[in-house]
Amino acid sequence: MSTSIHSPTGDPYLLTPGPLTTSPTVKQAMLHDYGSRDQTFINTNANMLNRLVDIVNGAGTHVSVPLQGSGTFSVEAMIGCFVPSDGKLLILINGAYGHRIAKICDYYQREYLIQESAEDTPVDIDTLDATLNSDSDISHVVVVFCETTSGILNPLQAVADVVARHQRSLLIDAMSAFGALPLDAQEITFDAVVASSNKCLEGAPGMGFCIARESALQQTKGNSPSLSLDLYDQWQAMTKNKQWRFTPPTHVLLAFDQALNEFDEEGGVAGRGGRYRENCDLLVAGMRELGFKTLLPDELQAPIIITFHMPKNAEFDFNAFYDGLKDQGYVIYPGKLTVADSFRMGCIGRLGLDQMQGALDAVKNIIAKFGIEKIIN
Ligand SMILES: *Cc1c(COP(=O)(O)O)cnc(C)c1O
Repeated sequence: MSTSIHSPTGDPYLLTPGPLTTSPTVKQAMLHDYGSRDQTFINTNANMLNRLVDIVNGAGTHVSVPLQGSGTFSVEAMIGCFVPSDGKLLILINGAYGHRIAKICDYYQREYLIQESAEDTPVDIDTLDATLNSDSDISHVVVVFCETTSGILNPLQAVADVVARHQRSLLIDAMSAFGALPLDAQEITFDAVVASSNKCLEGAPGMGFCIARESALQQTKGNSPSLSLDLYDQWQAMTKNKQWRFTPPTHVLLAFDQALNEFDEEGGVAGRGGRYRENCDLLVAGMRELGFKTLLPDELQAPIIITFHMPKNAEFDFNAFYDGLKDQGYVIYPGKLTVADSFRMGCIGRLGLDQMQGALDAVKNIIAKFGIEKIIN
């Protein structure tokens, strides 16, 4: 089967929510062992901190703090640090990542309230407004920018405007959108946003980061119930001696530096988001042509990951579909919905129109192999 696998490193392309396909040059950047006190490494790290702040146009008002681990480590760090023990968090939920934040609050014994909508329905702004009107104990609100569970885009600007009008603090999980969808700190008022190295910024997985309003981060001292996830402590230590507190993921950082170079070369958020939009449009159009149906209407679909209804044809077997696609060089993802039986295809990572078309051709092949003439939705 290896002849049909055509990524530059011979691996299948990842049409998933992460980990994602990275460029050969990003992978190559990891072929060095640097000590954490190496001057090159220290400079690269300092540079990265500024570059992340620049992506949200936050120079002078915002700072960034990196953290070891997967994206969830940074989400947990943000909640633990920014929501004090006497605070109350309103969690806007329309998917699994929102629910995960509630679980973090359970672990940390933080008081919270949930505003939940269905996985195919964006966060409701009027309900948010009413809740903030009626519950003055709510100190913080957290929203997931793109809910990767379905691929739905939440109305971040409207959420931020309402939260700011009520003078509460906004926390954002922008994990799957950061770098691909605009998030300007001068337009969207937030105290903290978290994302990771390996989603739309196309680095290797292994670290996340928080970009925070400096004045808000300044007030989080002593809040974190966790030592290793204490963003305030990480920030203070890094400000003082330019070092990570504990062993830094040096290779991941080198890859991330190269990934940020490639992000800049592509034209930043506009360029990166533009490529993903083209990927998404081609994939959706091609899948619809084959008879598949998207969960979301186009206006709610973020150009990140697309949820398709599982075909009802008796001949359609998802495991065989998945394996058949993988044999042809494309890895897709199972669904995670409660509202419908589904599967997902991502359009982020180092993928372009050739890969989208290749995946579509592969899907067409397998459907034919199954003997399906018309997809039943
Ligand atoms: C990927 C993702 C995360 C973090 O997931 P990890 O598996 O811990 O990296 C958090 N929130 C959203 C919205 C995501 O897409």
